[in-house]
Amino acid sequence: MSWSSSGGPGHTRGDGTVTAHAPAKVNVSLAVGPLRPDGFHTLQTVYLAVSLLDTVTVRRGDGLSVTVTGEGTGGPDPVPTDRRNLVWRAAELLAEQAGVVADAAIAVDKAIPAAAGLAGGSADAAAALVALDALWGTHATRGDLTALAARLGSDVPFSLAGGVALGSGRGEQLTPVLARRQWHWVLGIAEGGLATPAVYAELDRLRAAGRAPEGDGAPSPEPVVAALRSGPPRALAAALTNDLQAAAVSLRPALRRALRAATDAGALAALVSGSGPTVAALAEDEDAAVRLAAVLAGEGVFRTVRVVHGPVPGARLVG
Ligand code: ATP
Repeated sequence: MSWSSSGGPGHTRGDGTVTAHAPAKVNVSLAVGPLRPDGFHTLQTVYLAVSLLDTVTVRRGDGLSVTVTGEGTGGPDPVPTDRRNLVWRAAELLAEQAGVVADAAIAVDKAIPAAAGLAGGSADAAAALVALDALWGTHATRGDLTALAARLGSDVPFSLAGGVALGSGRGEQLTPVLARRQWHWVLGIAEGGLATPAVYAELDRLRAAGRAPEGDGAPSPEPVVAALRSGPPRALAAALTNDLQAAAVSLRPALRRALRAATDAGALAALVSGSGPTVAALAEDEDAAVRLAAVLAGEGVFRTVRVVHGPVPGARLVG
């Protein structure tokens, strides 16, 4: 890793703050290979960054502190504000690599619900890297930040990159994918999250019991990549896949009804996003997405619904 500076004056606004946004993701295809000896699964996934954005604002502080507002602050399992928060670890890692003191007050304003299969924590970590690099004047290259991101979590490099990308390995090895257009979605957000490790464990259990097909270790993302390249939403709808869906539905049987409600209400297709429990429903266009959201909101199947589009860029400074 090469750093052009090890600290110095950063780029802050007049009030001494730096703000960055980062997007949620939907996995438009997610193929899970067998369990590896290191406890991870080999993945082939196609990520799409969508327009549901978390906002991370940083300022100089005495040591590190984290506050969280917005989605995920209430409930029985609130987003942590200590070292367990991924932005804390992002700050420590960046400071260590750059040889600066990790002094920052980090304010996370969440629009992305936690433990929803939308990579909200990863988005915050990516936004924190970008914002703190500017605050501390550490001048990391995009490559430097991507290397740090991969150490923070499988989805963090994609939260940094945004757009559309093929992810392999644990998801952290990215290849950009050409996408011809914007796609419009309704995200159906459930009451309560699902822990990602529990969903993978459930998939292993279903596979061992012969109740879910085995991953072949080299699954092909080609149909979804071709659909993204060709453009029509119906082509993408036909190609959407998620190996984790059966496991998420097994742990949360209400998801079956939620997926059906989305297609009954006019979605071209609906799938569980990542490890769930968010349902991503694809619409023909923006108007159709707004109509779909209105119907689903009226039915009360979800805690809340959000109309989003993608691809959108990854973590970036604002203001
Ligand atoms: P993925 O789709 O990447 O598997 P997810 O979207 O299902 O993840 P996250 O929202 O990233 O899940 O959060 C998972 C857990 O990580 C939370 O339950 C929470 O305890 C912890 N966590 C740590 N930092 C954060 C953060 N900044 N925002 C949300 N959760 C965080």
